[in-house]
Order: sequence, then structure tokens, then C-alpha cells
Amino acid sequence: MPTTLPDHPDDPRPSRPSGDPCEPLRVAVLGSTGSIGHSTLDVIAHSGGRLVPHLLAARSSTEKLLEQANRWRPAWVVVTDPAAAAAIGPTALPAGTRLAVGPEALDQLVADPAVDRVVSAIVGAAGLQSTWAAIEAGKIVALANKETLVMAGPLVMRRAAETGARIIPVDSEHSAIHQALACGRPGEVKRLVLTASGGPFRNRPGESLASATPQEALRHPTWAMGPKITIDSATMMNKALELVEARWLFGLPAAKLAVVVHPQSIVHSLVEFIDGAVIAQLSPPDMRLPIQHALFWPHRVAGPARRLDFNETIRLDFEPPDLERFPAVRLGLEAAARGGTAGAVLNAANEEAVRGFLDGALRFTDIAELCGRLLDEHSFHENPTLDDIRRLDAWARQEVGKWACV
Ligand code: NAD
Ligand code: MG
Repeated sequence: MPTTLPDHPDDPRPSRPSGDPCEPLRVAVLGSTGSIGHSTLDVIAHSGGRLVPHLLAARSSTEKLLEQANRWRPAWVVVTDPAAAAAIGPTALPAGTRLAVGPEALDQLVADPAVDRVVSAIVGAAGLQSTWAAIEAGKIVALANKETLVMAGPLVMRRAAETGARIIPVDSEHSAIHQALACGRPGEVKRLVLTASGGPFRNRPGESLASATPQEALRHPTWAMGPKITIDSATMMNKALELVEARWLFGLPAAKLAVVVHPQSIVHSLVEFIDGAVIAQLSPPDMRLPIQHALFWPHRVAGPARRLDFNETIRLDFEPPDLERFPAVRLGLEAAARGGTAGAVLNAANEEAVRGFLDGALRFTDIAELCGRLLDEHSFHENPTLDDIRRLDAWARQEVGKWACV
């Protein structure tokens, strides 16, 4: 039997149609076949029936999706790539599970009143549309897809305020900050300090970075993640994107954001208050904790995430980032400071450059160089619409494509 969670002044569940806090929360997992999707289903598996998957969505990994559907029997399975969906036979889904195809179907189903929580874990710019649909529908969104805020932060935060949607971060740094901010008032925050593992090339000499191979860059020392974000960790572009994400999510100017390299990935980020107190959140690198935090927020429950063992010696090192070897961090600070279309261009240029690097068409160091160039060259808008953002996204991808062909 699902247990009742204690009352909490911020508990969003009384707004559910039935208002019954004992009912399980129905979760839409967007990107269920990916790394965050997989961890989300593990959190659900350990929730004692308090969370149930209502919808599982992926682009084309139908084999894995069908395996998940048969294990979880959600009401809906969504495949956004019609060609991949066409290969699903009529008997592949369990009784009671229906198939929907295409991004528009996903947008509609995400907005359905039957959905209590949306886990936004599609990778890249492709995640913006369905996250936007969830925000339009006033949902509580567990947001892993940082690109949504990097591309369209001001629009998304404004729309969420209008519709009553809540965005609870899943990105471990932002989850840590979300938790640490509870220790003070907004006006008492001096600075947010995002921790970065430093990635696989933390100690690699700058002159050998140009020859770094995809295989080397995909070997992350502390986190097991999808390939795109793993390359972003190697370039430290992940931290750049996270700076922009933090800027909009927490509504603080770029001057109040900082990055520190912390190779153990145990301190997930810190908040410095005006009195000098620094509050951090610590736990082993395991995304199940921030996912669970977002899904159960504002409550804490026991879960499957690994725990720190204080019977062992735990070492915590902190060092400033090397902006010469990792220029991406500077680009992130710049994009966070400029706002407008800077985040969308940085994100699109990076996504395309990462693809080029993985395909062997670009060198590792080309990624940040190209991103910097396009950030400088693009026709900047201070207050873009979603259409402006989509247009510049396409422009940046095209520009990187030209470069990769040279
Ligand atoms: P992944 O590559 O492992 O999985 C991506 C998922 O998105 C897959 O299920 C794939 O089918 C789906 N997808 C891709 N394009 C799609 C489309 N057009 N329509 C529908 N589904 C689509 O990625 P991941 O590592 O799980 O990352 C997911 C998101 O979470 C990213 O935005 C990433 O930055 C963020 N994130 C990940 C981690 C992590 O530990 N993996 C940590 C913090 C934030
Ligand atoms: Mg992160």
C-alpha cells in the first residue's frame, strides 16, 4: 500500500483532481531509454508504489522501449520517430498500453490531466518542445533537459509563472543548489558555486587536447551518462550550459555564478550566503538522488541512491577551473551574462560540433572554438520569441555543418 507522506506547506499534490495524497503519482518519462530515463525507472521501482510510469517516450530505441513497456505496462508508449514506430508489431505492447507516434502526440499526452509529474530527459534541443508542452499545461516538471533553459530560459520561466508549472531541477548541481537555497532567503545569497568534475582531461596538457579522440573523451572518471553530455563534460561545455541553466532557474545575474573543479563529484554544488556561510549538498555521484528529489519534492523519502560511508576516508578537493585549457567555461559565463539568444546559439553550435567530433569531422578543440565564433557572429536578440530561437538554432547548426565539411 502506498504510504501517506506528511503534509507540507508547499505540497503540490492537493491540487490533483482527486486531492488524495495516498494515490500514486503518475509519471511521464520523456527519454525513458536513456541514462536519466533508466535511473528514473529505478527510482520508480524503489518507490513502493508511490510512483507509477504513465507514459514512456523515446525517439527510436524501440527494442528497449518495448522491454520497458512490458515490464511497467504504462498507459502510453510514445515513439517520436515514425520510421522506428512503423517497425512495432501489433502484439508487441502489453494489454492496456497504447502506442502514440510523433512529437505532436507526445506534446498532447504530456499535457493530459492524468500526468502528475513529467521527467524531461530527452537529450538536446529536441527536449524543448515537450518540456514546453508540460509547462503550458502547468505540470510539475523534473527537469534533466538543461537545454530547455539554456535555449529559452526567460520564456520558459515566465510561462511557468503564468501557468503555475513548477520546474524542479534534476541536473545534480542545480538540485544541490535547490536544496542549499532552503537555508536562507533569496536576498541573502552571495553566490552560487557550481562544482565540475573536470572530466577525463582535467590533467591533460593543453597542447595535446587537439588530438584527443572520442574514445578518450567518452571515458568519464566519475559519472556514467549519455554520450552527448559525456563529451560536454570533457570540454567543460557541460558547465557552460549549466551556468546558463542556473542563471534562469534561480534568477541570479551571471556575476553571482561561479565554477569550481571538484574531481570527486561528491559535493554537487554550493551556495555562499552574504554572511560567508557556504552550504553544500553531498552524496556519491548517482543521479537517482536528484531524480528522486525532484519527483518527491517537497518531501524526502528513502530510495536506492548510493550513500556516503563515513567509516572510510573521504577526500574533497577544490581547484579553480583552467580557462585557458577549457575556454568553454568562459563562453558559459558570457552567454549567461548576455542572455537573449546567446544560450540558444551556444547550445546549437555545441550540439552540432559534438556530433562532428564524434563523427571524426572536427577536432576536440574545434568544439569550443566554433561555439565562441558563432556566439560572437550571430545576430543577437535581447528578447527572442520561440521562433527566433528555432531560427538561430538552425542557423548555428548550418554554420557548424559548413565548417565540419571543410
Ligand atoms: P541519453 O542519450 O542517454 O538518452 C537520451 C534519451 O532521449 C533517449 O531515451 C532517446 O530516445 C531520447 N530522445 C532523443 N531524441 C529524442 C527525440 N527527438 N524525441 C524523443 N526522445 C528523444 O541522454 P542522457 O544522458 O540521459 O541525458 C538526457 C538529458 O539529461 C540531457 O539533456 C542531459 O544534458 C541531461 N542530464 C543528464 C545527466 C546524466 O547523468 N545522464 C545528468 C544531468 C543532466
Ligand atoms: Mg550536471
